[in-house]
Amino acid sequence: MKSKQNKVKILIAEDDRISSKILKKHITGWGYDVLVVPDGKKAWQVFEKNEIGIALLDWMMPEITGVELCRKIRNDKSGKYTYIILLTAKNKQKDINKGLTAGADEYLTKPFNPIELKARLKTGKRIIDLLEKLHKQAIYDGLTKVFNRREIMRILNEEFYRAQRTNQPLSTIMLDLDHFKKVNDTYGHPVGDEVLVEIVSRITTKMRAYDKIGRYGGEEFIIILPHNSIKSLKKIAERIRINISQKSIQTSAGPLQLTVSLGCTSTENIEASSTKMIIKISDEALYKAKNNGRNCTVVG
Ligand code: GH3
Ligand code: MG
Ligand code: MG
Ligand code: MG
Repeated sequence: MKSKQNKVKILIAEDDRISSKILKKHITGWGYDVLVVPDGKKAWQVFEKNEIGIALLDWMMPEITGVELCRKIRNDKSGKYTYIILLTAKNKQKDINKGLTAGADEYLTKPFNPIELKARLKTGKRIIDLLEKLHKQAIYDGLTKVFNRREIMRILNEEFYRAQRTNQPLSTIMLDLDHFKKVNDTYGHPVGDEVLVEIVSRITTKMRAYDKIGRYGGEEFIIILPHNSIKSLKKIAERIRINISQKSIQTSAGPLQLTVSLGCTSTENIEASSTKMIIKISDEALYKAKNNGRNCTVVG
């Protein structure tokens, strides 16, 4: 995943070369990652290609003004929230109102005071970090740290339409722990939780970099495998199954032997017109795997 997780990227859009240099020197010195552009059009291009945490926008710039940029950024719903600081020589009350109405979070007048700018950036970073934390809580499962059900279903929809567009196959694996209730009943829920965490780790080591996993329900997981042929699907599913069954899981109650059942499907195999149908077929295959005695893979 992202390595520089805590480093907020700051976009400086300023057409005045001297101001731009001074801003860059200060802000880099405060430890931020900085991208500098001389006009509004380039600012928009950089914004579209990068995850900008804070945008420091001059008002008067060629091509697109800072205020217009504010509006464009606020109308763009594709990415995460960008904290916007408008920096301008315009200091009349009506200008300040116009800037804030366009979507700026902050308004600083030139010549700027570096101490104030530093404090404003810190406020921006605090907001961005908080939003990032909330975003993570909204998409990941708290126990196993994989995507939660809502997020993995969103990803499945996205991948399904991408696969249709590009004429590529899309595969899914539904995986359910066998007789997991017994673990809870015999050793208690905390030990059951340890097992779930270890199972996820054994699954993910057998996944490819672009496969995605989510917690579908209590002890049931779904793996999404884009561009995956039916042949390699069965192989991956079996690798996962064996990686779980072949070695006992170390828990605080001692080593426990666990197995999983897997139900798979691929759009190569079925005429899938919706993600609902993919889930239904994977589910039916999983049900068959359970009926076949568990600890096995069925392709539907
Ligand atoms: P089967 O082989 O038919 O799937 O049997 P099973 O016992 O695995 O299935 P069942 O649906 O009867 O039980 C699932 C259990 O999973 C019951 C529930 O308490 C447990 N479970 C669900 N979520 C969690 C969790 O977050 N932590 C723990 N420890 N247990 C959980
Ligand atoms: Mg200017
Ligand atoms: Mg189960
Ligand atoms: Mg289950």
